[in-house]
Amino acid sequence: MNNSEVIRMTDENIMQTYSRFPVAIKEGKGATLWDFEGNKYIDFTSGIGVCSVGYGNEKWAKAVSEQAMKLQHVSNLYYTEPAAMLAKRLKERTGMERVFFSNSGAEANEGAIKLARKYSFDKYGEGRSAVVTLVQSFHGRTVTTLAATGQDVFHNYFFPFTEGFRYTPANDVEALDGALSGDVCALMIELIQGEGGVLPLDKEFVDAAAKLCAERDILLITDEVQTGVGRTGSLFCFERFGIKPDVCSFAKGIAGGLPFGGIMAGAKCADVLGAGTHASTFGGNPVCAAAALAVLDILSDEELKKVCEKGEYLRGRIAEMNAGCVVGIRGMGMMTGIAVNSSHKEIASKCAESGLLVLTAGKDTVRLLPPLTISYEEMDEGLGILKGVLEKA
Ligand SMILES: *Cc1c(COP(=O)(O)O)cnc(C)c1O
Repeated sequence: MNNSEVIRMTDENIMQTYSRFPVAIKEGKGATLWDFEGNKYIDFTSGIGVCSVGYGNEKWAKAVSEQAMKLQHVSNLYYTEPAAMLAKRLKERTGMERVFFSNSGAEANEGAIKLARKYSFDKYGEGRSAVVTLVQSFHGRTVTTLAATGQDVFHNYFFPFTEGFRYTPANDVEALDGALSGDVCALMIELIQGEGGVLPLDKEFVDAAAKLCAERDILLITDEVQTGVGRTGSLFCFERFGIKPDVCSFAKGIAGGLPFGGIMAGAKCADVLGAGTHASTFGGNPVCAAAALAVLDILSDEELKKVCEKGEYLRGRIAEMNAGCVVGIRGMGMMTGIAVNSSHKEIASKCAESGLLVLTAGKDTVRLLPPLTISYEEMDEGLGILKGVLEKA
């Protein structure tokens, strides 16, 4: 097929829930992609932070194909080796206590919310079930995680939403103090709001949140679906903030491109979800778990140090550009937001036309989530295209 055939067949047969760029991707290597006619794209998106170790990574592909040949799935009524090894590895590298595996970010957050409500139910009985999240947050697209998402635009059409969610502004300690009271069982936060615009929380706010939650026996949930798995330069972003959440959700980058996710719970709430209280048919899938093990192997502490350096390099090079539309550069590790005073969507379109894939976030932000393993040559090539587009925007 050629590009236009793929695009037409998609548009005629798949529900039109995405406004896609007119780009059809055939294959990739490293952080470079090609369409069906051989046009090349430098990828500063890695899916949406999913292909953490790039395209055609041989170690990753070998782990996936070997596991696929051996065993692709048995139900969670039986034991499998990749899930067991992965859970152990995650525990060792994070100090968390127990893991539950799911298949996506929204589902991981559903698990975190269920865990928090049951923790409170077991200890305090019915009624202490509210979950506080932040204004401008994003937690997923299920009916419950839409309710958890602190943006009005997501609270439409699908009424009634799940009850028991309240929103408090990010970085306002006084408001948080007031919000974390009465019937609240959990606070769920993104340490850097991703979809909302690459908005990092203040260290003082996060410290206050951790302290208030601990004092009031409210579970602190960090939604690390986007910030996790090396994206910000440590395996999980909570390490960079120097806190320890009670529950941490992850997905996107964990299996390097296969659908996978989960939650990790600390000692205090590790045993809350017992037999029969939560489940997922595909959760812990051996092929995905083998892929995740390969991802964790590749993302050694040494590699994560490089993620920090490459992120600084990227933001430094953008700051040097002579681009009047750039009004702010934010980020950590390989998660970068460029706030612009012209159309961020237009910039993303122009970049795609010029051979660079970038994301947008919030109302005014161009978001870059390159593969963590991107080379300096690929970064330079992408930065050259970005410079051309930003300086004209
Ligand atoms: C992407 C994202 C989700 C939703 O993940 P899905 O896999 O699309 O369900 C939830 N939380 C955050 C912070 C995300 O970035």
